[in-house]
Amino acid sequence: MDNKFLVVLEQRNGIIKKSSFEIYAKAKEFSANTDAVLIGASIVDESQLKQAGVSEVTFIKNNDLENYSSSAYTNILVDFIKQNSYEFVFIANTALGKDLAPRLAAKLDCGITMDCTNLTEDAGNLLATRPVFAGKLLLQQKLTSTVKIFNIRPNSFGFTAGSEVETKINVKETSDICLSVKTVDVKKAGGKLDVAEADVIVSGGRGMKSAENFNHIESLASELNAAVGASRAVVDAGWRPHAEQVGQTGKTVSPNLYIAVGISGAIQHIAGMRSSKYIVAINKDKDAPIFQIADYGIVADAFDILPVLTEEIKKIKQ
Ligand code: FAD
Repeated sequence: MDNKFLVVLEQRNGIIKKSSFEIYAKAKEFSANTDAVLIGASIVDESQLKQAGVSEVTFIKNNDLENYSSSAYTNILVDFIKQNSYEFVFIANTALGKDLAPRLAAKLDCGITMDCTNLTEDAGNLLATRPVFAGKLLLQQKLTSTVKIFNIRPNSFGFTAGSEVETKINVKETSDICLSVKTVDVKKAGGKLDVAEADVIVSGGRGMKSAENFNHIESLASELNAAVGASRAVVDAGWRPHAEQVGQTGKTVSPNLYIAVGISGAIQHIAGMRSSKYIVAINKDKDAPIFQIADYGIVADAFDILPVLTEEIKKIKQ
């Protein structure tokens, strides 16, 4: 395809999100005519762009944009997309992307597809795959408007930094920004890693029996450099923070590996993790519904298996 593609990169606390690089790499597979744009007060660490293979980026700079602003980002990007006649615009389905992508679509009066998990080329256009009905069906959508916005679920394509490139950064200072909506503070809830973007997640359910017993989940997660996730039952019980909840009323995740421990596999939980690449279920009930979607299942008591598993992984790592 030789259409003009634009990938909106996202930076939080100086770190450019892996989900942004994932989409950039994927977009480049379809069109060599792929540009990247980043908005903010500064680029804290330019080497991230080099390492991720981003050859050129337009950096739209304003000192008041240390944090995200719905109004400013929307207006800046609408102008940028129009001025440069971009046809295909890509934004990750992060908290920021969920807010920004529909605003752009409304202002540009164009088609949008949210939370896509795959993209394929189709006669000069793109077909986006989107899970619907709690992931039971996969919908394929083709956008026919001139500008098309694709909001992509993090971890859908995977990303490993390839060879480094020299990144050309075109800085565009902007003064006239609309700050009618501004983020004043961001408080990080939950653990070290955000479940929505982690490559590996170890999730615990009511089968863990208590908040204290989550130390078994945390130990395994720590060995695997994984994020800790939770079912709603344990969040409702106050054992884990809501930021860790996976499912319909929690976060949608798509890691390479999802380990569900003591989780029955209710449809509302599965809705949030079904697109994981590999699912491992540990449950003492062999008929638990989670086994129907698991790639690997261990029928065992979590309290017997978790210490052994953690120890074995520790040994392998040594
Ligand atoms: P349970 O269903 O009680 O399952 C516990 C499992 O642990 C069982 O399978 C049991 O066999 C196993 N077990 C017990 N002891 C052990 C042991 N020692 N070792 C190994 N296994 C053991 N849920 C979500 O998770 N996320 C959501 O976002 C969500 N949103 C919802 C939205 C709505 C509108 C509604 C109605 C419900 C929602 N739910 C959600 C709740 C969902 O329906 C389930 O109630 C919930 O997922 C159950 O959590 P659980 O699997 O941890 O608990």
